[in-house]
Amino acid sequence: MLYTSTRDKSIKVSSSEAIAHGISKEGGLFVPESIPQITMDDIVRLSKLDYIGRAKEILSLYLTDFTAEEIDTCVNGAYGEGFSSEKISPLHTLEKGTEILELWKGPTCAFKDMALQLLPHLLTVASSKSAPDKEIVILVATSGDTGKAALEGFKDVKNTRILVFYPNDGVSPMQKLQMTTQEGSNVGVCAIEGNFDDAQSGVKKIFTDKSVAAKLEEKGMMFSSANSINWGRLVPQIVYYVSAYCDMLEKGAINAGDEINVVVPTGNFGNILAAYYAKEMGVPMKKLICASNANNVLTDFLKTGNYNRVRDFYTTISPSMDILISSNLERLLFLLSGMDDALVREWMGSLSKDGKYSVNEEVFAKLTALFDAGCCDDEGTKACIAKTFKENSYLCDTHTAVAVSVYDDYKAVTGDDTPTVIASTANPYKFSKAVLDAVHPGMSEGMDEFDMVLGLKVETGEECPPQLANLKGKTPRFTGCCKKEEMEQVVFDMLK
Ligand SMILES: *Cc1c(COP(=O)(O)O)cnc(C)c1O
Repeated sequence: MLYTSTRDKSIKVSSSEAIAHGISKEGGLFVPESIPQITMDDIVRLSKLDYIGRAKEILSLYLTDFTAEEIDTCVNGAYGEGFSSEKISPLHTLEKGTEILELWKGPTCAFKDMALQLLPHLLTVASSKSAPDKEIVILVATSGDTGKAALEGFKDVKNTRILVFYPNDGVSPMQKLQMTTQEGSNVGVCAIEGNFDDAQSGVKKIFTDKSVAAKLEEKGMMFSSANSINWGRLVPQIVYYVSAYCDMLEKGAINAGDEINVVVPTGNFGNILAAYYAKEMGVPMKKLICASNANNVLTDFLKTGNYNRVRDFYTTISPSMDILISSNLERLLFLLSGMDDALVREWMGSLSKDGKYSVNEEVFAKLTALFDAGCCDDEGTKACIAKTFKENSYLCDTHTAVAVSVYDDYKAVTGDDTPTVIASTANPYKFSKAVLDAVHPGMSEGMDEFDMVLGLKVETGEECPPQLANLKGKTPRFTGCCKKEEMEQVVFDMLK
């Protein structure tokens, strides 16, 4: 299987090259030329395997220039002791017909671990094939969770360095502490004055700057990306949607062939795009429901076909979704337009020039058939956390609550009672203040982050994962904050 670029269809690379380079040189994103198919018999067979077994089969369909041994080693190395659940991504029944897919059992307590525990293994194999002897420099722009998950995945990995940029005022205190206290000899972390979109644009600019690439080349280094623009981030996420369907079969929540809905709290459109791939592979899915917070650019887009990022940016209590430029949408548009690279170039050109674009009727009709969308502001998010805790004895984080709330609205409007999987993307203790404010308004006043952790435990009886609780009292290693224009300099300072 070869990969092509969303902005230049004449480009053809192997999966190793796609993963090692992260982004195509003209700025497009790599996608597989075709989507591998699985049958219901395959799915029934996969449902008898554990997560690792399922992952190996699915990945081997996409990473065709990896040997079976290489895939074995990568997958076994990724999904082991770092996860607090043997099932890796377990289902929790919220109520009959509604399953929560818990994607945050990994070392950093957010769903990013599902991909970023695997990516360093994939990248090590990929670069040994397609760029031997090069030191890989991973640049990351993060809205909070990717940064920590990438640092944890890449720390002390041979022949790699990793540098993370995060928006100074755009992450939760726990997220910040997780990153700034990161251990490892090949890691760096820097705040920027700006929001996530500024960080992401800055990183993309450095990536595609030819003079920067030349300077790196002289040092025997090359850039790669751990953001979801890298195919190596997307492909591990397809696995858990197939696996969720298998688990629903296993627990008798559905019969083979039944359709499910999938609800995903969305920012950069990576997670929900993985669900789309799973659907196109053959997993029976009815609607993909895209849930946004107050930064509802995707809700508007999926309802009108007009993408417009020229709007106010809100800093919300679900910061990992505070995004106005959803990068992975580009991949979907490429697929839905019948791989029309010229159209994608045109749309992405007008997005960067005017901040907006409109898709044609044909693509809009496909979008409407596949997706539903909704949004939920901070008040609605907190109300949903409180309600879900009270009525279902389930404590959601703020991002998951956005999805639960949007799904409630969807059900009320459509009456659709198809069995549904809601992606749960973080542990509630990553966002203690907002969650505590939801379950016990007023209690957080005057409390520091770890008082709130304690308060939340007393209020709800939920345990705080040790990797978060143990951050108490740790001194940050990385305290720098730079301007947008200084990002390139920060990169070269680190590489000295
Ligand atoms: C990254 C993240 C999201 C958004 O996922 P995308 O793939 O960017 O759409 C949602 N919730 C949490 C907790 C996240 O860390």
